[in-house]
Amino acid sequence: IKDRLPEPTTPIEVNELAKSFNQLLDVIGEKEDREKQFVSDASHELKTPIAAINGHLKLIKRRGQAHPEIIADSLAYISQETQRMQRLVQNLLDLSHAERDEIKITQVNLGSMLSEIAANMAFPQEIKMTTPGIFIVSADFDQLREIILALIENASKYSSENKKILLSLKKSTKNTILEIKDFGIGIPKDAQKHIFERFYRVDESRSSKIPGSGLGLSIVKELADHQHIQIKVFENHPQGSIFQLIFPNEP
Ligand code: ADP
Repeated sequence: IKDRLPEPTTPIEVNELAKSFNQLLDVIGEKEDREKQFVSDASHELKTPIAAINGHLKLIKRRGQAHPEIIADSLAYISQETQRMQRLVQNLLDLSHAERDEIKITQVNLGSMLSEIAANMAFPQEIKMTTPGIFIVSADFDQLREIILALIENASKYSSENKKILLSLKKSTKNTILEIKDFGIGIPKDAQKHIFERFYRVDESRSSKIPGSGLGLSIVKELADHQHIQIKVFENHPQGSIFQLIFPNEP
């Protein structure tokens, strides 16, 4: 890089050049650090289920014959950990697609997309569309459907079965806003700023009974950013969460 820099003519330019060069190195360094951290987090997340599976296989080998009752138990663990790995690998693939996939922007009728999702997807909770109508936004149809599904899946996962999930749409002069409201366990205010980070789960002990990799919302964010869809999260008083997707209206 140094060889390619133009010859500086005055000392001030040298200083300016050195400053920009250092800034550039900082940016590259930060990006590398983030990528290294991601690879290390992903490996760690995969190592945990592999170690658990290995442990149970050893247990079956050592004690299975004398104590056949442990076999069923261990097999249940192995099956659970295998599913965890499958989920994680699928999420990692989704994330890399989200980063690379080309987007195809078309005019999408959000109202009918929501009605179709509410009618066809099976969730334990009742999914209710509170504002039927025609709301047109510019987006990539498949990726937008993926974003909405992931948010509804989370709303469902983090709520008990007797709670509703409400979908609503509103249009202002500047934006069209889609709101997904649940009445589940909610997200504490100080955790809200972290939920879009890769592998972040609010209070692992609270979430550990609910399966997840902590990657879902980082995929959602990646997909939304590509299409200039803003995403916001709020507390739903007294209980639950509200996620908003904000689409800029066409001029
Ligand atoms: P996960 O695979 O753990 O669900 P996500 O990236 O989709 O990962 O979400 C990150 C974390 O944010 C979750 O682990 C959960 O703690 C929290 N979260 C996301 N959506 C909701 C919601 N609707 N209600 C409560 N907590 C949520």
